[in-house]
Amino acid sequence: MAENCKIVVVGAGILGLTAALTLQEHIKQPVLIIASEFPGDESINYASPWAGAHYRPIPALTAADIRAQKLMTVTNAVLRTQASTHPEAGIRFMEGREYFEDPPGSYVGLQGGYGDTDGFRVLHKSELPSGVQWGCTYQAWSLNSPVYCAFLMRRFIHRGGKTLRMRLVSLQEVPHIAPKSEVVVNCSGVGFGDPECFPTKGQTCLVKNACDRTITQQNKDGSWTFIIPRPLEGGTVIGGTKNPGDWSSGANEDVRRTLLERAAVMYPSIVVDGGFEVIRDIVGRRPTRRGGLRLCTEMMEVKTEEGKGKRTLQLVHAYGAGGSGYELSWGVAKEVANLVAKGQQSPLKASL
Ligand SMILES: Cc1cc2nc3c(=O)[nH]c(=O)nc-3n(C[C@H](O)[C@H](O)[C@H](O)COP(=O)(O)OP(=O)(O)OC[C@H]3O[C@@H](n4cnc5c(N)ncnc54)[C@H](O)[C@@H]3O)c2cc1C
Repeated sequence: MAENCKIVVVGAGILGLTAALTLQEHIKQPVLIIASEFPGDESINYASPWAGAHYRPIPALTAADIRAQKLMTVTNAVLRTQASTHPEAGIRFMEGREYFEDPPGSYVGLQGGYGDTDGFRVLHKSELPSGVQWGCTYQAWSLNSPVYCAFLMRRFIHRGGKTLRMRLVSLQEVPHIAPKSEVVVNCSGVGFGDPECFPTKGQTCLVKNACDRTITQQNKDGSWTFIIPRPLEGGTVIGGTKNPGDWSSGANEDVRRTLLERAAVMYPSIVVDGGFEVIRDIVGRRPTRRGGLRLCTEMMEVKTEEGKGKRTLQLVHAYGAGGSGYELSWGVAKEVANLVAKGQQSPLKASL
């Protein structure tokens, strides 16, 4: 059980699950996941089940975006394989469309590798909806986030992974729960008291109306309209809002109406019998961090029983993925495994 696990992952969202699976495969040590929420649970603070989730390339012009693009490339390759070998995972590759009412120069100029996206083509004016100045098409993927997380969880358990449902107040608790732990991977979404983290509230609406592609539009006022099909008959996500620092938790009916109206204008074929068949509103908090994802390693000193001595563990942070946790996931997991492997090469010392 937990007592024998040398590697502990805190968090069972998309980053925790992919990190835990990758560590199982590459480090070949028993892995324990500790989390307060697991696949199947619903909480506004547990971001993973609320995601669309789809792939949307961006022009990579800053160091952070170039790094993100590399991580996304790793994810795309893993999902491509999983989509063909595991249809039950709920991943589908499909056309992605992008529309801009007021296009930034970086997109139109195809800067930062944007035009290199698989299947990329700039759309002809005749292919654009009314009010849209510029658009393109590319190869995207979409996945059914609750189904995909359950798929990953099942794989982790089948490969001998252990789980513990518990809300930690501090990462210092870990070695007391798992006394043989040498590595702690912090995939807690918002970290433990990190002042740079904040929520970005997102409201979307899940409908029965079908769509065969993902479509994202940036409107003149800076708002977003998107349509993301959920594979395996999971409906279609119509979105969505992105409100940094908004701690409110309810779904707003006016927001829902606006989202559906805008989607109907953007892609009229989605409308059936004059409207939408709503399944449910979705409200989640994207775990956002000023400066972006925290992906690094440090050493953590912990007191052993009753302060008799000290022990040093490797602590790897992987949190603060904002609105891109799925896109970054397998790339981040690979980096986590590299950091852990490096840490294991320089043996961890226990000092008494
Ligand atoms: C509406 C919406 C649409 C989105 N669309 C997309 C998209 O299209 N593409 C995309 O890539 N991303 C999308 N995202 C973002 C994506 O959902 C997040 O980036 C991702 O889910 C973050 O995963 P995570 O594992 O870091 O965090 P989470 O999923 O929040 O998981 C955190 C885990 O840590 C555990 N935990 C936290 N604190 C503690 C503690 N103290 N003790 C024990 N356990 C703890 C939680 O229980 C949970 O298991 C969207 C998000 C929203 C809300």
